Amino acid sequence: MTGQVHLTLDEVHALAVRALAASGFSAAQAGAIADTVTAAERDECKSHGLFRIPYYVGALKNPDVDATAEPSITELAPGVVHVDAHFGFAPLALQMGADPLTGKARQNGIAALCINNAYHIAALWPEVERLAERGLVAFAFTAALPYVAPAGGTKPLYGTNPMAFAWPRKDHPPLVFDQASSMTARGEIQLHLRDGKPIPEGWAIGPDGLPTTDPKTALEGAQLPFGGHKGAAIAMMVELLAGALVGDVFSYEAAERDTGTGAPCGGEFLIAIDPARCVQSGAGQLDHAERLFAKILEQEGTRLPSDRRFAARARTPVEGIDIPGSLYERILEFIRG
Ligand code: NDP
Repeated sequence: MTGQVHLTLDEVHALAVRALAASGFSAAQAGAIADTVTAAERDECKSHGLFRIPYYVGALKNPDVDATAEPSITELAPGVVHVDAHFGFAPLALQMGADPLTGKARQNGIAALCINNAYHIAALWPEVERLAERGLVAFAFTAALPYVAPAGGTKPLYGTNPMAFAWPRKDHPPLVFDQASSMTARGEIQLHLRDGKPIPEGWAIGPDGLPTTDPKTALEGAQLPFGGHKGAAIAMMVELLAGALVGDVFSYEAAERDTGTGAPCGGEFLIAIDPARCVQSGAGQLDHAERLFAKILEQEGTRLPSDRRFAARARTPVEGIDIPGSLYERILEFIRG
């Protein structure tokens, strides 16, 4: 099918659930993934929307993946919750971990969520935004597969290793940033390959170690960290937090148990902080933050991270979204079996 297919957000969700259920996902796993995919389409984060459905289904070629896994929750310490995803996908583990993490953060002022054995191919903003909507400051970190060269190197070692941060706001959705520690998310390069477009200079090097603008050569070579050694240091920190700290694998170790599906299995680490427990009463932290945001926005050419998503979120529930006909047809094939 050529051209674009127009869908409402309800249709996006239903399409995702049907494709995943027909492919063997449990209702709980399919529902949580569909929520994440629909939120990405709603916020015009296309590389994590319906585009990802073939990747979720393709991951099932790995016999270690359990599309019906039921995550289990345990308390590791008064301020630390553990969710074992049991080789299912991260969205359900994250949904289930949100309440206990929130409770511990409110009780202790600060708390952590350690997730193990989760396949994670989604964006991180949904998990931190969910916590900030409850009034918490939140951080999330996850590693991936070895795609990014360390500073000065030419061979992939780190994942694209995103980190996300969310800050609660009064009368406004939270401020959120969510960024890969590479110059770009891998999904963006995959979208350029699909659309036959060159990638910008500086995103990647080829297998020969030389800069490239060809998306295929980039995917065969190594992505580059953002900001040279500074982004590489963040990528390394994410490896340590989402790998060693939570007792899970580094990106290069995740590759050893991936059977070529491209879906990384490993850990995720979240921190949640209750701002009310960080100061004497009446400090007005949220109002203070608003003054910083206002100062930023006084300058022409600025915007706050997440404002692009919130602008899309105001539009897409009314206008719907478009996806390429070829993607729609591919998803229908999963439903037809
Ligand atoms: P981008 O570079 O597109 O955006 C990073 C952040 O910067 C966003 O929060 C964005 O907000 C904000 N931003 C962008 N432009 C501006 C601006 N002009 N002023 C202020 N803020 C701005 O993201 P990446 O390509 O680095 O990552 C994309 C996604 O890929 C992330 O959601 C990440 O979690 C995901 N990812 C997932 C991985 C996994 O293994 N699960 C691996 C790597 C990445 P806004 O959204 O409003 O544009």
